[in-house]
Amino acid sequence: MAFDWINEKLADLSAQGYRRQRVTVDVEKDGIISIDGRHYLHFASNDYLGMRHDEGLQQTWVEGIAQFGAGSGASPLVTGYTRAHSALESYLAEHLNREAALLFNSGFAANQAVLQALFAKSGNITADKLMHASFIDGAMSSPAQFRRFAHNNPAHLTELLSKIPSTNSLIATESVFSMDGDEAPLKALADIASEHGSWLMVDDAHGFGVLGEKGLGCAEYVDLSQKDVPVLMGTFGKAVGTAGAFIAGSRELIALLINTARHYIYSTAMPPAQALATLYSLEQLQDGRRQKMLSDNIRYFKTRMQNTDFRVTDSQTAIQPILMDGPNQAMALSDALKQRGIWVPPIRYPTVPKGTDRLRVTLSSVHTHKDIDALCDALLLAREAIS
Ligand SMILES: *Cc1c(COP(=O)(O)O)cnc(C)c1O
Repeated sequence: MAFDWINEKLADLSAQGYRRQRVTVDVEKDGIISIDGRHYLHFASNDYLGMRHDEGLQQTWVEGIAQFGAGSGASPLVTGYTRAHSALESYLAEHLNREAALLFNSGFAANQAVLQALFAKSGNITADKLMHASFIDGAMSSPAQFRRFAHNNPAHLTELLSKIPSTNSLIATESVFSMDGDEAPLKALADIASEHGSWLMVDDAHGFGVLGEKGLGCAEYVDLSQKDVPVLMGTFGKAVGTAGAFIAGSRELIALLINTARHYIYSTAMPPAQALATLYSLEQLQDGRRQKMLSDNIRYFKTRMQNTDFRVTDSQTAIQPILMDGPNQAMALSDALKQRGIWVPPIRYPTVPKGTDRLRVTLSSVHTHKDIDALCDALLLAREAIS
């Protein structure tokens, strides 16, 4: 029989504590999530600034539907590319000080697309060990030699680069790492790339919208020009509150993508209303108000956790992991929190390396200090209950 191994695989995952299940969310708003008729304080969303429920953003999306229809109706090279898309691209290019930008339906697609376009022929990809699955898959399926440097370790990167030529050489990192919340040494990496003659690519999925006074992400926060980071990728599904992604860089890079990136050419364009709503969100985020509220919440959480013996990290971002002794302990603590009305998911292998199972707390500007107090109190009680 075909695919007999499926049952065995699933049983295997269950036995190891790695089998995943989805939860069906009823509603979610203002830091509260409702699942199976129960309400929880929500510390699991990447909606770091509460933009998903911003009324102006929602209104703009609705008006966009009235103006352009629900979907885009075609791929961008046919008739799916509208004034709404072009306005968002221009805004991104202008504010990020790039020559051009190009929209994708997801960050997953953008990462795959850019690797496929840059590595039609062979080359070298040297990326941080903790890069996102979408990047790793793109790199592995390209004809390039794929090497990984130790996490946030410029010295190891330099060592790997000393053995490879600079032609078709791409170095890649995330700005803020998705499961650890720590930040890459972007200036150092940009210097190394430029010395070697390589290009640096930054995946700013968790920085875009949050980092920088205007929320323009790592390019603003660390002041990185197009020359420093020739390939800048960002997503809209996290802090920006909508969905989709972009690649920004030189006119030639964008022209190459338009002409050769299969994820761009053969996929229906993002709904124009979504592009309109995304642009609205970026404009709103310029005042930095929500980002300040988030920073305050991060400081407050870290202060509260300081006096406990939970294994927290020195992450300064909205992503605050709490390390556990194995997947089962992570699941048990997450369950015990759930019973106390707090939603924090366990993150296990293969999303994180084996032996680094954790709870991934994410903070948002919509949380109050009281919400964070409730989380920290519940953590202590939940741990006592499972020990
Ligand atoms: C979420 C994420 C992606 C994928 O973006 P989507 O728009 O959700 O497909 C890519 N890279 C990183 C680092 C991410 O966290």
